[in-house]
Amino acid sequence: MWGISLENKPSIFLYKQMMDNLLDGIVAIDLEGSVTYCNAVAQKMLGIDFCPVGIVLSELDVPNLVPFLSDARSGDKLNINYHSGTLQVTYQDLMQDGLRLGAMLMLSDIGQKQRAERIRREFTANVSHELKTPLTSISGYAEMIATGIAHEEDIVRFASRIQSESNRMLSLISDIIKLSELDEVGRSQHSEPTDLFAVAEECVEILKPTAILRGVTVQLFGDKTVVVGNRSLLQELIYNLLDNSIRYNRDNGWVKLRVTDKTIKIRDTGIGIAKKHQQHIFERFYRVDKSRSKETGGTGLGLAIVKHICEQHHANLELESSVGIGTTITITFP
Ligand code: ADP
Repeated sequence: MWGISLENKPSIFLYKQMMDNLLDGIVAIDLEGSVTYCNAVAQKMLGIDFCPVGIVLSELDVPNLVPFLSDARSGDKLNINYHSGTLQVTYQDLMQDGLRLGAMLMLSDIGQKQRAERIRREFTANVSHELKTPLTSISGYAEMIATGIAHEEDIVRFASRIQSESNRMLSLISDIIKLSELDEVGRSQHSEPTDLFAVAEECVEILKPTAILRGVTVQLFGDKTVVVGNRSLLQELIYNLLDNSIRYNRDNGWVKLRVTDKTIKIRDTGIGIAKKHQQHIFERFYRVDKSRSKETGGTGLGLAIVKHICEQHHANLELESSVGIGTTITITFP
């Protein structure tokens, strides 16, 4: 058996923290195949709840690993389907002063990487599609005006279509920028004590004209309640929820927004969301009724932004909805 040299500090505690915080699993074995080290990630990937040091690796019964290890050379890789995902195992000789001490196995969850890559590809395809549609329409109307095909009486109508399609593109681009800022790992958002009720009052004021236009009554209840967070993100969160409750409402419907005790509860008498859609509406570009979303200026990104902001603020998000009756969303801050 061999161990990590502690001659050159930093401490073993720091090494352990570093190894346990890697994204990949690391398992070291000696010449007899006994485990000499296994980080926390590897334990999780292998689905074991104990430290396997001293155990012969083949006893862990990982599929196909034993034949792979019997003639593996440094750099060899093996993909195995294990537990819920696909693991890639990379074999690496462990050498010291020209002597082979054993080997190290690096475990990567490539299933997760493939999933992340698929989500990224789908997002890019969606963005391209969503941008192309309004652009095609803008270009078509502009061409008709420029070439003189458009009749005099149609010009104002075409220009207003160009304007509304341009606004749609601007909202979409602004939501994409917001999401990519929220996605940026390690980007710290400025936090300050923020009164959620005051933020809600601002949102109600901004959305008043939209509500009047749609014949929806908005009422705000509650009182001052302070949470530590990013003010502009919190405003974005309340604005998106309120905007949806107004846009997906019925004629003469209402929205009740209650903000108190670090909780935001928004209830509407809108069209509601069927059970089968409820788990998807927080995904990027997921819309239940695409034409209604577009018609009312939706981008399909509002609730994805809401979910992200809740996660950043460690807030709990709950959805209750019945088709034809309405939707209630409750957000509770810690
Ligand atoms: P959008 O820009 O399309 O409104 P969101 O991400 O904000 O995108 O919402 C996703 C979908 O969830 C919407 O397209 C709509 O179908 C549904 N939805 C969101 N809020 C409500 C609500 N209050 N009532 C009914 N449906 C809603």
